[in-house]
Amino acid sequence: MKPSILIIYTGGTIGMKQDPETLALVPFNFENILDEVPELKKFGYRLDTYSFDPVIDSSDMHPSFWIDLANLINKQYDNYDGFVVLHGTDTMAFSASALSFMLKNLEKPVVFTGSQLPIGMLRTDGKENFISSIEIAAARRPDGHPFVPEVCVFFDSQLFRGNRCIKINAENFTAFESPNYPALAQAGIHIKFNESVIHYPEHWGRKLKIHTEIDTNVAILKLFPGITPQYIDAVLNTDGVRAVILETFGAGNAPMSEMFLSRVKKCVDRGVVVVNVTQCAMGSVDMSAYANGVALKNIGVISGYDITTESALVKLFCFLGCYNDIETIKNRIMTNIRGEFSKND
Ligand code: ASP
Repeated sequence: MKPSILIIYTGGTIGMKQDPETLALVPFNFENILDEVPELKKFGYRLDTYSFDPVIDSSDMHPSFWIDLANLINKQYDNYDGFVVLHGTDTMAFSASALSFMLKNLEKPVVFTGSQLPIGMLRTDGKENFISSIEIAAARRPDGHPFVPEVCVFFDSQLFRGNRCIKINAENFTAFESPNYPALAQAGIHIKFNESVIHYPEHWGRKLKIHTEIDTNVAILKLFPGITPQYIDAVLNTDGVRAVILETFGAGNAPMSEMFLSRVKKCVDRGVVVVNVTQCAMGSVDMSAYANGVALKNIGVISGYDITTESALVKLFCFLGCYNDIETIKNRIMTNIRGEFSKND
């Protein structure tokens, strides 16, 4: 049977057009996506499309959109072999991370892609990204199972695990990088899948489950030399906050001052989950490497290892949404759920 792919259009540059008055790019509802890329007919696949209404610039992204997306994939799961999500690049790493946690027992590819130039422009990167994403979503191993049964991001010839990538460039075609995990596939003359780093289920045939309970009461405290107690207090005492991502220096280090540590300790003691994520794009938190990291560990800060901030944020959204018990939440956050981090202890 010919492969069937559902193309989900959410907005983003790939489908944008220039506003004739302001010349700024605005989301455009391109009703018939397939007309924009006639080459797609050559695949001989069944390609159906679904467009969100309204389509958005992804800087307007909101968790309620992720819930709609998860519900849509759940509803259409048995009807398609794979899904391609056309999405703006600005928050693609957040959305791909979110969907990776929201879709449990996923056994089909969900490939996010977009572009830096609209698909209607001559030098667009959108066509190649779009066409290769469809090919990846449809690709099968000799045993008939998909090559990539994961939520992933395809951009500029590389396929990344969705919850491992970050947007690194606002203008180059190479807009994404996966600093701490190898690419799942590389598109050259052939698409080469790196099967040893792709996650495959132990047993196929499990039913997809979706988690749509989300709690966004998370704050991010990015450290910098000269940070004031007032600023720290404002973030840590945000109304309703249940978890804080501490964006630390290097291998997970923070000031040793009483001013700083006493504030974080108070926060932990009142039952807020405080997760240590490094500001460095590459490498991991290791709270035993330096005295400054040990001090954080001793007051109950937990390690995010080499997780991205994007992924840590949405992982917290999901587990705060699922559980009330603080120890359960901490335990889930420190557990590798969808390959989002590599533990180093
Ligand atoms: N602002 C656009 C968006 O994220 C940028 C892009 O798609 O590249 O929707």
